[in-house]
Amino acid sequence: MNRLHISNIGRIGGITSEGVRMRNEVHISEWSTIEDAWIQVEGQYVVEWGSMAEEPILPPNTEIWDAHGAWVIPAFVDPHTHLVHSGTREQEWTARLKGATYQEIAASGGGIMQSVRNVRAADVSSLLDESRIRLETIRSMGVGSLEIKSGYGLDFDTESKMMRVTQALAAEYPEMNILSTCLALHATPPEYAGDADAYVKRVTQEWIPIWVGEGLIDFVDIFCEQGYFGLDHLDMLLDCANRLGLGVRVHVNQFSVMGAVKRAVDGGALSVDHLEEFEGPDLEALKKGATFPVLLPGCSFFLGIPYAPGRLLADAGLPVVVGSDYNPGSSPGLNPFLTLSLSCLKLGLMPEEALNAMTLNAAASLNISDRTGSVGIGKEASMLFISGLREWSTLPYHFGQVPPMRVMLKGRFI
Ligand SMILES: [Zn+2]
Repeated sequence: MNRLHISNIGRIGGITSEGVRMRNEVHISEWSTIEDAWIQVEGQYVVEWGSMAEEPILPPNTEIWDAHGAWVIPAFVDPHTHLVHSGTREQEWTARLKGATYQEIAASGGGIMQSVRNVRAADVSSLLDESRIRLETIRSMGVGSLEIKSGYGLDFDTESKMMRVTQALAAEYPEMNILSTCLALHATPPEYAGDADAYVKRVTQEWIPIWVGEGLIDFVDIFCEQGYFGLDHLDMLLDCANRLGLGVRVHVNQFSVMGAVKRAVDGGALSVDHLEEFEGPDLEALKKGATFPVLLPGCSFFLGIPYAPGRLLADAGLPVVVGSDYNPGSSPGLNPFLTLSLSCLKLGLMPEEALNAMTLNAAASLNISDRTGSVGIGKEASMLFISGLREWSTLPYHFGQVPPMRVMLKGRFI
């Protein structure tokens, strides 16, 4: 297999030695680097690196690329997206600019239900075409791995359609790691109006086992919130997931605190996502458990709601994760560098902490940190080569600006 030798790298950041799978094993602020380095890639993997002062003599015919002083970070990992959807929702955004709240828009038939109507009406190929454009956009900005949720179908056929689109994207873009989360429990569909219990029962007892059998699901998720789903529904999903061996991710504490963080942690959930509303017992529960807190500052920015307490969670030694929550209603932005800036400016993380939260910890929350999320020997060669950096803080400092860079995913430049 051909080996690619990359010389003259100014600095490599986000390095891990074997076995380190998330950044509270050392500390979230630990961002290991080497300067004036070379690195070698064989096939999909990083195989060796070292200092330019000790650059090896290369066998003839070795492929060489001169990085001209560019700095390297691991490709971003986005652990929370609603990337597959049809159409956009600018109209409700302008209604919000005039003063309507997210809840008022939902009550008048907008919000999630607007996207449900759009996705139900879309055929597979148009849904795939729309989603592919977003995926290529996010990939060009350095995201190498991402999770994609269903949840705009809320009936068996449309949820299946969404998950098949995610499956098709994963097959089409093998250089990325694309994981599928079933969010059929995003809202109660009109067909079950007033009977959320019956809907949750149908989803957990009948639909999810079928989708697992078809290989369409890596994780399951539920929107725990006043007016959506409650603690009993969360329990039903946790039972179902434990029976089927699925990881659980939970939308929780976005608008209200209802005790679902503790319930999710006690039930062995993999992640609790959002946490904009946060109280002492939530912190105590997270400290005792092994559930990842996933923070979504883009959603707070776009909705104008409070930000999750990133600094508090990091100081408590928790493996803080940051994702985009990309979706057409509450976070319609794909740019990971803006998320990085918001993580510093609004969640209170230092640049190196925010980078860890968007790479290694995000990968750990998706159970893929053994192969991606950091620069390590034997790990996938998914890295960004960035020019013009003076400090790591240069990245979030130019907020939302995508720096000049080349993106390598699984050993190949895209
Ligand atoms: Zn979400």
